[in-house]
Amino acid sequence: MKNRNSTLRNQNMKKHFLISIALFAFLNVFSQSEKEKVVSTVTKEKIEGHIYFLADDLLKGRQTGTPENKIAASYIANTLRGYGVKPVVQNAMKGSNTESYFQEMKLNQISPIKRLLLVIDGKEFKKKVAVKPNKMEFTGEAIYLGYGLESDYKGKNVSEKIVIVRSGAPKVTEVREAFALIEEKEQLAQRHGAVAVIELVDANETTWGYVDHNFNSDRIEIAANKASEDGKKRVAYLWIHDENNIQAKAFESKENLSAKLMMEGEEKKTIISQNVIGMVEGTDPQLKNEFIIYSAHYDHVGIGKADETGDEIYNGARDNAVGTTTVLSMAENIAKYPTKRSALFILFTAEEKGLLGSQYYVENPLLPLNKMVYCFNSDNAGYNDTSIITVIGLPRTTAAANIKEAATAFGLRAIDDPAPDQDFFDRSDNVVFARKGIPAPTFSLGFTSFDGDVTKYYHQPGDEADTLDYEYLLKFFKSYVFAGRLIANDPKTPTWTANDKYESASKTLYGN
Ligand SMILES: [Zn+2]
Repeated sequence: MKNRNSTLRNQNMKKHFLISIALFAFLNVFSQSEKEKVVSTVTKEKIEGHIYFLADDLLKGRQTGTPENKIAASYIANTLRGYGVKPVVQNAMKGSNTESYFQEMKLNQISPIKRLLLVIDGKEFKKKVAVKPNKMEFTGEAIYLGYGLESDYKGKNVSEKIVIVRSGAPKVTEVREAFALIEEKEQLAQRHGAVAVIELVDANETTWGYVDHNFNSDRIEIAANKASEDGKKRVAYLWIHDENNIQAKAFESKENLSAKLMMEGEEKKTIISQNVIGMVEGTDPQLKNEFIIYSAHYDHVGIGKADETGDEIYNGARDNAVGTTTVLSMAENIAKYPTKRSALFILFTAEEKGLLGSQYYVENPLLPLNKMVYCFNSDNAGYNDTSIITVIGLPRTTAAANIKEAATAFGLRAIDDPAPDQDFFDRSDNVVFARKGIPAPTFSLGFTSFDGDVTKYYHQPGDEADTLDYEYLLKFFKSYVFAGRLIANDPKTPTWTANDKYESASKTLYGN
């Protein structure tokens, strides 16, 4: 009996032992399988397929509003369809039904004005741009008003006059910051009855070159809804180059100035472009109410100045066929293996025109923004280190650990922005979501500095599909997809790290 009992006990123990072995193996398989799921859908051939198509000369650089931009959108939409990703808006009215993946938007294409003459105090100013043109033939008075801020208007009559101001504000000397003050200065001038603002901009030659190029080539902006444009008397706004404030100082001592301003109105043409959007619902009954946005822009800068080889097509393989491919890779993977949280895939248009597609989206979201807990954006200039992934804003969200883990799993290392002076965080679509409060870093090809092999291809005709290292890209895309899965399955909702600049916007959005 005793013996028998002990045998039974032994058998029981064996059974327990086997069960725990099986359980351990099962858990092990489960934890491995997340990575296995990534490996099973992301392949070199698929990546090459996307990038070679999107960066083909046939697509002529995917310029916003062109038929080729639309071809790229159609490719993306129908690729999402093929994966089983669902459109968010059903639009059965349109023939092919591909449109249901599209968020169409009206944009204004504005040509630079052809005639602009400015004479103040008998002196003609040549280095100038019309930031806000307005048709006028003005001969009359001008008045110098310091920075043109609220206090500068005290006791001054500017009605029907031109207001001359210097750029920036006390302690604000950067041209970019000065540009941000335009709205405020314009409104002040308008409220006080002025006809135009002439701003003397303290910028070096290089910076002025950018300003001049920007306003003397075609621009694109989101077409304002008509109501906001009606019934308002517009104020023209000009920028004059005035390095070291030499002209501003000369005007300071003068009381009244004579002025002549002749300007044509701007030529506007309406163009249509589209964001491409799809979704996959999450599997967890609770977490599926939270969405992770996977985003990238698919437009590029089109046809432009030829390089020394005579190539004039700016293919944008890195910028941003690569980013588009990160999102498509994620979409294919999640459609096959849905995550706990829901997924929203957005491919933006018009990023190169000033983040217009993403701006349009946050102003017209298809799903409530406060359900979007994270925006995992990808935008790319180029790379000069194939052992890393550069994540702009890596330490700024609590998902940093997930992203680092994913990169390490595929033999790469995730690093933060190495060139903060370039302001990358504020130069891609992620910032539009960040300003709304949504944690939003940008996942980019590895670079340790913005020069060499990065600038060689950045916004150049040579940014072609056959100049990429696809062994590196394979690891890069797998890392993105794995990171996305880890974030989307993490029981903890990702947030900004404490005291981030966008934390308060986040509190407003999510109400906590
Ligand atoms: Zn770009």
